[in-house]
Amino acid sequence: MNTKYHAFNLSNYETIPQIAQLRPEDKEAIEVVGRVLPFKTNNYVTEELINWNNIPDDPIFTLNFPRREMLPKKHYNRVLDLIKSGASEEVLKNTINQIRLHLNPNPAGQEHNVPTLGDQKLHGIQHKYRETVLFFPSHGQTCHAYCTFCFRWPQFSGMKNLKFSMREADLFFKYLKTKPKVTDVLFTGGDPLTMSTQTLVDYIEPLLGNEFKHIQTIRLGTKSLAYWPYRFLTDKDADELLFFFEKIVKSGKNLTIQAHFNHPVELSTEAVKSAIARIRGTGAQIRTQSPLLRNINDHPDIWAELWRKQVDLNCIPYYMFVARDTGSKYFFELPLEKCWKIYRKAYSRVSGTCRTVRGPSMSTYAGKIQILGITEINAEKHFVLRFLQGRNPDWVCTPFLAQYDPEATWFNQLKPSFGKEKFFFEEDDPGYKYLNKKHTSLALE
Ligand SMILES: *Cc1c(COP(=O)(O)O)cnc(C)c1O
Ligand code: SF4
Repeated sequence: MNTKYHAFNLSNYETIPQIAQLRPEDKEAIEVVGRVLPFKTNNYVTEELINWNNIPDDPIFTLNFPRREMLPKKHYNRVLDLIKSGASEEVLKNTINQIRLHLNPNPAGQEHNVPTLGDQKLHGIQHKYRETVLFFPSHGQTCHAYCTFCFRWPQFSGMKNLKFSMREADLFFKYLKTKPKVTDVLFTGGDPLTMSTQTLVDYIEPLLGNEFKHIQTIRLGTKSLAYWPYRFLTDKDADELLFFFEKIVKSGKNLTIQAHFNHPVELSTEAVKSAIARIRGTGAQIRTQSPLLRNINDHPDIWAELWRKQVDLNCIPYYMFVARDTGSKYFFELPLEKCWKIYRKAYSRVSGTCRTVRGPSMSTYAGKIQILGITEINAEKHFVLRFLQGRNPDWVCTPFLAQYDPEATWFNQLKPSFGKEKFFFEEDDPGYKYLNKKHTSLALE
């Protein structure tokens, strides 16, 4: 294929040759849902990953292309009616923004993770877990394609007051200097590897200096391996990028690529295999993560294959997440019990080298909560849970129980066992009230 990047969005997707064979209702869904949630794909995804004989159910098609069921019916019909009646762009835009606010744009109260320096709010930083700071460089707030399930969708929707990002790297460096307990910096977005190598160097190179001895691991959260492996192969600054990776490793720091792979197909092309090999050749590690998504990867065979392939390619399986309660969750969510069963079945089928993966994990306001399983006490069922990461580090690794609920799809639907009013961590956390509340009203200032 042509390795020059070419994006497709609402304005030009009809130039993708295979679109002509879509059913009218599939095209309508793209037009309607694609206006509410971000839509973008590219020539690698359409030529190398999607199986066009399997539309609309193909997992990669579903990963990039809007489908009708991704919006609740009433919202879908409202937008469709407006388009059909030839409503003005302004009316359409207002309605769409209202709908977006109903879709829980910043799940888990992320705005509470934004730290301050002096009296300044650092909108491009989230610092929730003591050791790890997330940084959202303003140049990296896009991706090579957009996932239809993405919980970071406000980053791309042009709704400024819901977006995290930072242009001023200086403030970020200043902040890190005041936090000696931080060992890890995780660049995220969006996808920081949509930035040019030079921009990335500007953000990272200062961290290799003596003042930042406490920063031991540089992490890059990226889906470029899955969506655009040519970033590491043939893009014009690909060699510089790999050279810089090597430089980070040689400086004595750990460089971890936090790679998103949702389906084994993403690991099947020659391009992705070469890109992984090149990255590993620099001494960088690749750790992998993905949410569990109905209609994309909700089968143990898929996960067992995904982890096995990753280990074969020298990647380390890291997290399996529960699909977040945002955006198009109606289409992707699964009962927590089902998530655990899929994890357990897949985990039981792979060897210990794949079992570095932890999940299924829910990223909640309080922390990352893993579902350890379901147990019976006095003929009553309970979920056994624990924190993999906690807003308070003391919570980590302590098992706790929640009443079994076969329909629950997210933590805020669970109740403490034995008729207790609060979970143990809610007692000592003044912010617990946000856990059981919808976050839609908590837009950033
Ligand atoms: C997941 C996450 C991290 C990273 O956690 P690790 O367990 O170290 O990978 C950091 N900050 C936030 C807000 C997160 O959600
Ligand atoms: S690559 Fe990551 S940030 Fe980008 S759309 Fe997908 S999930 Fe969201």
